[in-house]
Amino acid sequence: MREVADAIIVGAGLSGLVAATELAEAGRSVVVVDQEPEQNLGAQAFWSFGGLFLVDSPEQRLLGIRDSVELAWQDWQGTAGFDREEDVWPRRWAEAYVAFAAGEKRSWLRQMGHRLFPIVGWAERGGGAATFHGNSVPRFHVTWGTGPGLVEPFARRAREAERAGRLRFLWRHQVDRLVRTQGAVTGVAGTLLEPSHVPRGAASSRVGVGEFELSAPVVIVASGGIGGNPELIRRHWPARLGTPPAHMLSGVPQHVDGRMMAITEAAGGRLINRDRMWHYVEGIKNWNPIWERHGIRILPGPSSMWFDATGQRLPAPNYPGYDTLGTLRHLRTTGHDHSWFILNQSIIRKEFALSGSEQNPDLTGRNWRLTARRAFGKRAPAPVEAFKAQGEDFVVAPTLAELVAGMNRLTRTPLLVLADIEWEIVARDRELANPFCKDAQVMGIHNARRSLGDKLVRTAPPHRLLDPAHGPLIAVRLHILTRKTLGGFETDLEGRVFGEDHQVIPGLYAVGEAAGFGGGGMHGYRSLEGTFLGGCLFSGRNAGRSAAKSL
Ligand SMILES: Cc1cc2nc3c(=O)[nH]c(=O)nc-3n(C[C@H](O)[C@H](O)[C@H](O)COP(=O)(O)OP(=O)(O)OC[C@H]3O[C@@H](n4cnc5c(N)ncnc54)[C@H](O)[C@@H]3O)c2cc1C
Repeated sequence: MREVADAIIVGAGLSGLVAATELAEAGRSVVVVDQEPEQNLGAQAFWSFGGLFLVDSPEQRLLGIRDSVELAWQDWQGTAGFDREEDVWPRRWAEAYVAFAAGEKRSWLRQMGHRLFPIVGWAERGGGAATFHGNSVPRFHVTWGTGPGLVEPFARRAREAERAGRLRFLWRHQVDRLVRTQGAVTGVAGTLLEPSHVPRGAASSRVGVGEFELSAPVVIVASGGIGGNPELIRRHWPARLGTPPAHMLSGVPQHVDGRMMAITEAAGGRLINRDRMWHYVEGIKNWNPIWERHGIRILPGPSSMWFDATGQRLPAPNYPGYDTLGTLRHLRTTGHDHSWFILNQSIIRKEFALSGSEQNPDLTGRNWRLTARRAFGKRAPAPVEAFKAQGEDFVVAPTLAELVAGMNRLTRTPLLVLADIEWEIVARDRELANPFCKDAQVMGIHNARRSLGDKLVRTAPPHRLLDPAHGPLIAVRLHILTRKTLGGFETDLEGRVFGEDHQVIPGLYAVGEAAGFGGGGMHGYRSLEGTFLGGCLFSGRNAGRSAAKSL
């Protein structure tokens, strides 16, 4: 086995790229191995919406949002609900990460050319007590250029290091084993896969054409989570979320296969909080899929009415964009895998954003003219209209009777009763006669519109859902969509992996989703959103800098 570099990084996603560029710029030599072909550079982050959690940013201040590190940390703790012995390092990571998000994160990215869309979104609004889950204020900052715009500076820095001879990418190198020598991790071994020319994101072949073994004093696992592996998700699905759904869409490409979890464990790494995961409840089947079971998440504004499969309106605070896992837990008690949004054209136009770089050509293409259309006009952004026309989960109708009949046609047995749904919607519509009311969702709509960003592009003016002037009516069948892994390898603040004996394993680091975005799960049970890419940036940066110093 030959020593190939100062450091080997497993994974060319965002966290791997950040760690690699930090090492290379500190003068160290780096090899990045990835099982996918070169067109996959950036991995999940390329497909992402590029949403980033920032605290007390100039963008927030410009919109009149008063945020602070104290408020953000209060929100984080209420959301994470840290309550385990294993939460010592995750909690430390979380505290350091909130400080990073309130401090250097924005300026560090900005000096690399990264820019933000000026309107700050309000994800995970919570809807319970001040000390419980949710963002007290809008904090979701969208990268101008979405995921590719965030990957860009790191890909550029990596290519510069490559030209300078300090960094090498080894594509189609699938790691099957970490090499341990006298207690330390000293390299990786695996299968050389046949070349693949499939488009980015499509499943590439796993046919081996050889083997490889590489050694280095530092190995950084940056291999992502388990979101593309339904079998692993079901195995670790927590009882507190009910039973795992029989039917799930996948919000990530197949390379998010979780294989490196068992491989790193076999080398002694301590994997904690594996029952903590983050799946969405507003998934729709992609009519134009890139990967198998490809689902898209609707990032919903607050006005759609949410019904379970049998037509019961979901109880407070399970409203669109409020509490992802709380809603998931509720839906798992209904005995069905799907649920329904009912809305109309005015709401879809303003409130439906689809997560994913390819679903937002205006923001991804940095096109101001196209982006401005989000605020005006009768039509939703083109990708949303395309789903409305072609997505198998959409029903569009002029009257409620026709809408409910269309919804019933989409399920094996007709579970919905028109009179029940009409009763709920008419009652909700009646609450709109006053600027005050008792319906918590309607109260939330009024509250959302006090935020300038929501008023401009995210929350439709309150109106009666059944008012034909706002039609046609739209129903969307929603599926559970797998995405993020919140647990991972327990690491210290430098990204060094602990063994089962609670001692750091010399030479072994973990970053990004594989490390639970830091520490083995800095989110605890839940996320405030925009914190995953940020966790990759922060953990990749810490580990890259620390490993460079240790060499
Ligand atoms: C559609 C979408 C939208 C998203 N939007 C947001 C958002 O707005 N905000 C946010 O914060 N987060 C978002 N996320 C989540 C975020 O993008 C991911 O959590 C993050 O990019 C994970 O990065 P990573 O480097 O940890 O892993 P990955 O991106 O999964 O990269 C891991 C790499 O390791 C390679 N690998 C794995 N195993 C092996 C092996 N055995 N041998 C060799 N190579 C291996 C894989 O091929 C892959 O290239 C989104 C994700 C998706 C898919």
